[in-house]
Amino acid sequence: MSPEHLKIPQATAKRLPLYYRFLKNLHSSGKQRVSSAELSEAVKVDSATIRRDFSYFGALGKKGYGYNVNYLLSFFRKTLDQDELTKVALIGVGNLGTAFLNYNFLKNNNTIIELAFDVDESKVGTRICDVPVYHMDELEEQLNQRDISVAILTVPSHVAQTITDYLVKSNVKGILNFTPARLTVPAAIRVHHIDLSIELQSLIYFLKHYPSSDIQA
Ligand code: ATP
Repeated sequence: MSPEHLKIPQATAKRLPLYYRFLKNLHSSGKQRVSSAELSEAVKVDSATIRRDFSYFGALGKKGYGYNVNYLLSFFRKTLDQDELTKVALIGVGNLGTAFLNYNFLKNNNTIIELAFDVDESKVGTRICDVPVYHMDELEEQLNQRDISVAILTVPSHVAQTITDYLVKSNVKGILNFTPARLTVPAAIRVHHIDLSIELQSLIYFLKHYPSSDIQA
């Protein structure tokens, strides 16, 4: 994201990819304009929040007209750096890591897993969905050579911190952490943590303890 957008609230920033995906769909279906109510219904975010989010970028909508889809789309593409391809490394080619390599992210946006790392000799030297798997010994060299600043972590949790320390030394600026480990990183590094089993437990807890009338997306 470009520096002039760094001041937007983090909650707003997290919703941008969601807006972007929906606008891309609208654009492909030939729609020229969209109201905040329509956007709200589609992305399940209330329309006041949408209007507030959009207001951080200046007056993008007009009363009674809604938002211009083309304009919004190019605005979000620029804001999310979608004109640039972001190359990502994946560490840990186990079950979850392999699933990500098969999925890759190119269908949704301009993000691609360019290479993967593991210590398991039976995986090193193979390609999964055309992504080469390197040994961890080559981590620093490969990441620096290919100018990779984002890594996905799908290793066992007991090695997550050690690997994170290597990643930090290798100039990685962002880590998407799928391990249950809580990582310690310097202030300049951003970690987003996705713990699938916690999410599942929390969903089950909410189902049990909150009546459906209390459900808020
Ligand atoms: P699998 O079925 O292949 O063992 P898994 O997801 O059940 O996968 P995990 O034990 O979570 O197994 O390990 C995930 C991957 O992380 C494995 O491919 C493993 O070889 C790899 N791995 C383990 N230690 C390291 C390490 N220090 N550096 C990089 N990769 C590692």
